[in-house]
Amino acid sequence: MTDTPQTRIFADYMDGESARLIRVSLRVEGKAATGALWLELPDGKTPVRWALGELRRVPDQAEANSIMLRRAGDDPARLKVSDHDMATYLASICPNISRRDKTPSLWRRLTILTSAAVASVALIVFVLVPVLADQLALILPTKGEQALGDATYQQIRQALGKDANTAAWECNNPAGIAALNKMMTRLQVGSNLPYNIRLHVLDHKMVNAFALPGGHIVLFRGLLKDAKNPEEVAGVIGHEMGHVESRDPTRLALRSAGSIGVLGLMFGDFAGGAAVLFLTEQLISAQYSQGAEARADVYSQNLLAATALPSAPMGDFFLRLKSKYGDTTGLASHMASHPDLKGRADKARAADTVGDTFVPVLNAREWRDLQAVCK
Ligand SMILES: [Zn+2]
Repeated sequence: MTDTPQTRIFADYMDGESARLIRVSLRVEGKAATGALWLELPDGKTPVRWALGELRRVPDQAEANSIMLRRAGDDPARLKVSDHDMATYLASICPNISRRDKTPSLWRRLTILTSAAVASVALIVFVLVPVLADQLALILPTKGEQALGDATYQQIRQALGKDANTAAWECNNPAGIAALNKMMTRLQVGSNLPYNIRLHVLDHKMVNAFALPGGHIVLFRGLLKDAKNPEEVAGVIGHEMGHVESRDPTRLALRSAGSIGVLGLMFGDFAGGAAVLFLTEQLISAQYSQGAEARADVYSQNLLAATALPSAPMGDFFLRLKSKYGDTTGLASHMASHPDLKGRADKARAADTVGDTFVPVLNAREWRDLQAVCK
């Protein structure tokens, strides 16, 4: 019989809880059914004891010079022993190493996969997809962005509808649309965007606005109702135009779509309803970085100044959002989801170069028409 190797032998251990490989030192105690293989973990963690009688060789391993060991039963942990002498020694002292246990049920096998698989998916979704999406956003042609925007807009309308068969109503009262177009004409004078802005109002009570790829900007009825004057709405539209200019929505949509694709590959049923809800939530809450929000605010302030409109009303609007929702993240509203609304309000007021004397963006009648665009 072979003696236990005298030098310290290391092996790679996967504990079944994380996808990380842990370098462990091996120690054999006794032989056969009463013996044990001790895995000495780094950082002084409690060693793991595997009884020799329960060790099994995982069949069909591609590498001829190493063996992969597991324990009998459903333990997902694995140990890869690459040291040839140690592998041979273990094979000689473990009485059941070649035994084929009854194959666990499909459900058990899925559970065994879970922890490592989840870690891999998380890596792809949270690290790889964002990097690839940002790269793709740089080379995506304008036409591709517009197609992406058209598709996501329809998806969002569908998801916000009253039931599965009804898309959210796109408000189209002619007088209201005329007022919106007048506002947009004035704002566009100061802008230089790669696409024509396409403004939509959706019949939904949420106080929200967001931008989509390719120049779509969506306002909700709740925001028009909540606004005190048309200059507040102009400030919000300017903010969304800032996101369009930085192409923030394009990167976000590509990241979300990429994540859905990966999750769909992993779990075949992550399409349809779940995917639509996920995408919709991502796009309408549109939680960008604090830096991206600040840039969009500054864009709006410059735009308002260039068209001789005040930016203080935008600050008033932020303060009202703060008193209504507080400084909160995770809210399904792009406008209110970001913390530090007070700071953003202060900056908007400080940037105001116009004051009280200006030609209003809409007259009183046009403003009433806009607020009634969903009627
Ligand atoms: Zn924003």
